[in-house]
Amino acid sequence: MNISFQPHWWGFLHSIIYAVICGYLAKRKNRSIIGWIFGGFILTFIGVIIIFLLPPKTDSDEEASDEAKEKECPNCHTKVEASKKKCPFCGYPFDKLG
Ligand SMILES: [Zn+2]
Repeated sequence: MNISFQPHWWGFLHSIIYAVICGYLAKRKNRSIIGWIFGGFILTFIGVIIIFLLPPKTDSDEEASDEAKEKECPNCHTKVEASKKKCPFCGYPFDKLG
């Protein structure tokens, strides 16, 4: 393997191809496309293998993670962001709960 034997851009082109494959697989698996384009660019075929073996992210997983970030207002029983200190619907202060 003599590096000077090949044009310098060939390795770069390879990385682009793997980045596109990773991005495509990431889209199909409902995962971060931008993140996997970078992953494919850096990891090349290893990145493709990783994204190929990863299970697709399902919508139910996303719902579950969203639920974890939410809490129910004890006053009006509306689901609100866990980071909120006050209920945006009825103004109930959550910091009273501790
Ligand atoms: Zn409320």
